[in-house]
Amino acid sequence: MTLRNRLRPSAAPEKSHEIRVIRLAGQEVRYCLKRSAKRRTIALQIGGDGLEVSAPFRVGERQLDAVLREKSQWVLNKLRQAQANRPPPVHWMAGAALPLRGAVIFLHVRRGERAAALRGNRLQLTLPDPGDAAARAAALQWYRGEALADFLHRTHLFAHRLGTAPTRVSLSDARTRWGSCNATGAVRLNWRLIKAPPFVIDYVVAHELAHLIEYNHSPAFWRVVARICPAYREARHDLRRSAAGYHAF
Ligand SMILES: [Zn+2]
Repeated sequence: MTLRNRLRPSAAPEKSHEIRVIRLAGQEVRYCLKRSAKRRTIALQIGGDGLEVSAPFRVGERQLDAVLREKSQWVLNKLRQAQANRPPPVHWMAGAALPLRGAVIFLHVRRGERAAALRGNRLQLTLPDPGDAAARAAALQWYRGEALADFLHRTHLFAHRLGTAPTRVSLSDARTRWGSCNATGAVRLNWRLIKAPPFVIDYVVAHELAHLIEYNHSPAFWRVVARICPAYREARHDLRRSAAGYHAF
């Protein structure tokens, strides 16, 4: 969730995001600069979207550049590793293996009136004009529909057990976040979660619903999560380990 203290005056921003480019050892490196009022130090991290730099607001351009140059070898090495670990791109044609709920399904494409359905372990797409781009678009649309139906079902079960209910459940397409819950009780879940094993989907749903009871990450919050999702530690581990795979498309 995104914690926001609504009592804080809005004049001074708490956080900012900015995409930047720097040349390190002759190589152009794109990075996301995240400034926050709470940070005290500069931190570098390589995530699914490449280099992320977290810094306090007071850090100037010179100091920022100096830190990046000093760590340039580390940054370039880590980026190379991340590139190498990236899953191979999906070829959207008949026979392609696709992840669904921790298992594998196979793409099947045929010509005809537009339709998409899962039959056993086969995602059957029928397209008026089959081709990689059309198959990809149709498959992604099917994934989103499948994700929403699945997430709504899990949300309903868990909300009932917790004696609460979100005001809204919708899908997100975020690159780094799996779920969020805002102060009005609206829950958003990343559609890519439908690729993860069921216990991992359960965890993210449980996490966001637990925020309806504890709007923080306190020990009390984790007790609520554990009540409906005892395997939450394994699930968090899986999300960290498999994030790149789940983001392959
Ligand atoms: Zn949270």
